[in-house]
Amino acid sequence: MKTLDTLPGESNTSVISSIINLVCPQCGGRMSEFQCEGRCSRNWLAEWEWANQATRSSKSRRGHAGPSMR
Ligand SMILES: [Zn+2]
Repeated sequence: MKTLDTLPGESNTSVISSIINLVCPQCGGRMSEFQCEGRCSRNWLAEWEWANQATRSSKSRRGHAGPSMR
């Protein structure tokens, strides 16, 4: 099995949307911020930042790496 570090571009958005919705992309469990509280107990911060970078592609804007919770 491959890790999510090598996901194709299309999957980035699903990972992002899942994290935004506080649903673990891997086990579908509940999430607290970037930490899965479900089965896999995975921390998605790295994937989040990676997916965001890959999604934004060329535009190098410096901003917050987290979701805007306003
Ligand atoms: Zn999980």
